[in-house]
Amino acid sequence: MLQRSLVLTLALLLPLSAAAQRRPYFQQDVAYRIEARLDEGPDVLTGRARLTYVNRSPDTLDSLYLHQHLNAFRPNSAWARRELRDRNTRFQALGPEQHAFERFTAISVDGTAVRASYPGAPDSTVAVIPLPRRLGPGDSVVVTMDWQARLATLPRRQGRAGRHFDFAQWYPRIAVYDRTGWAYQALMPQGEFYGEFGRYDVTLDLAADQVIGHTGVVVEGDPGYAETSLGRGYEPGPAPSLGLLTGQAEAGRKRVRIYADSVHHFAWSADPRFVHDFARRQTLPESGAMTTRAGIHVFYLPTDTAWDDQVVLRRTFESLEWLERLFGPFPYPQITNLHRLESGGTEFPMLVMNGSASPTLITHELTHQYLHGILANNEWREGWMDEGFTSFVSNWWWSESASDTIWYGSMRTLERLERTDSSEVVDQPGVAFSSPRIYSAMTYSKASAVFRMLRAMVGDETMRGILRTYYERHRFTHVTGEDFQVVAEEKTGKDLDWFFDQWIRRTDRLDYGITDVSTRPTGSGGWRTTVTVLRLGQAWMPVTLRVGDVTVTLDSRERRQSTAVLTRQKPTEAVLDPAWVLIDMDRSNNRAAIP
Ligand SMILES: [Zn+2]
Repeated sequence: MLQRSLVLTLALLLPLSAAAQRRPYFQQDVAYRIEARLDEGPDVLTGRARLTYVNRSPDTLDSLYLHQHLNAFRPNSAWARRELRDRNTRFQALGPEQHAFERFTAISVDGTAVRASYPGAPDSTVAVIPLPRRLGPGDSVVVTMDWQARLATLPRRQGRAGRHFDFAQWYPRIAVYDRTGWAYQALMPQGEFYGEFGRYDVTLDLAADQVIGHTGVVVEGDPGYAETSLGRGYEPGPAPSLGLLTGQAEAGRKRVRIYADSVHHFAWSADPRFVHDFARRQTLPESGAMTTRAGIHVFYLPTDTAWDDQVVLRRTFESLEWLERLFGPFPYPQITNLHRLESGGTEFPMLVMNGSASPTLITHELTHQYLHGILANNEWREGWMDEGFTSFVSNWWWSESASDTIWYGSMRTLERLERTDSSEVVDQPGVAFSSPRIYSAMTYSKASAVFRMLRAMVGDETMRGILRTYYERHRFTHVTGEDFQVVAEEKTGKDLDWFFDQWIRRTDRLDYGITDVSTRPTGSGGWRTTVTVLRLGQAWMPVTLRVGDVTVTLDSRERRQSTAVLTRQKPTEAVLDPAWVLIDMDRSNNRAAIP
């Protein structure tokens, strides 16, 4: 249904960026069959997974790397130790009944028992499974993994409280093997995820009264909500038994089978109190043939007055409609937005877990369905390509539907950081930033402002064309900043190295200022104003100049440029970058009164 093979073939034929040309693009083939049982009380999930892994790379592999992300939320993890540096003991101090864990109880590779090793010990978020037989190009291997997992009582992305469970992570997740080799990293506060696209066929055994929101589509059983008959295109056939869940579900329990295709992660939440809202979406083209589009599911608690009356359902609907116009149709059969324990939000394929009903949060996390979910960049290596890009798109939506003031907070922060020379190179791994504050300012605020400058420079129509082409060409693949730059250069017909170099790969600073302005009557009733503008920083950008009611764009790279502007009325002031698009380290010299 998702035309996976077509997409891959297309990706192979397209021109590749400089680094990529060294090695052709490839993508591993991954399929999970999972049986899992959640026992409330001990709150332990017991799982068995059969992972079928096809090596589509040109390399021979002697091991598989997997992530056990839940092990971040416990004492002595890399995450907990990183937070100790900031005197934050929240995970280091969790007791034996409180912390999260994810531990293997048995592993076999093609029937041979093996043991995982942990190269980052005492951190155990990265596990290595040795392959008894080397896996050559085109070969496949079947790994069966038994494990137990528990969420932390302290919510951070994941979490549990009473009978509420946010299973953001819960199973051994295969790491990506891409052109750079195995991409694995201990889960850290700075930088999130990177996943291998695959098919998930999951059967959950849980208390009969639980209501679940999840990645994928229900194909068997009762998830606790109606409107489950949306599994079109998904006909996975009878569930292959792994032997963990045998016979029928016990009294008071149920089994739900969920299927997902072309997703790089599978997450779910459960709460017996969940209230469910649903929107079916259909279009009726002029031909008269009704097309069903992705349905929207929203889950919240009966006490969530900010979510009820279909408020969140409508916000999710409106944001998704806007995003589909920007990128293209949402390609999965459904999307779920649910109220998690923690504040803030986190993106998972086909699912967002949100801590509030805020419209900007909803749009941000939904935008991640495209930027990270479908266009799957490595979040810890190039966070700007998902968080910055997503912040740009969701702010674009907000400025169209509400107000442009959404940008002012970020722009003020950036002006201060640039003026004090505190910016750091945006294009670097999350863990390399000097602090969580700078990581956040560079990855979210600065990167989003850079995308906004690009949009202002090329114009809205071209920017939309760039986004559509980037999506059409790269969906369901692993993407990099270079992939985006190639599309942007193609659609503008311009070399943009200078732009990404100065803003993303270096920390060049920009400062335009008006040094001189004068005006005089033209003799035919109008006014001729001459403005001299200095370029004081290393960086260069086209800059708009507004004199009275006339706006012109200055695009000289000279340090000093003068321009004459004709107006009908006598202007009172000249203003550089009046829309505040440029990351300018000193805006105090952008405005000059005209005597
Ligand atoms: Zn985000």
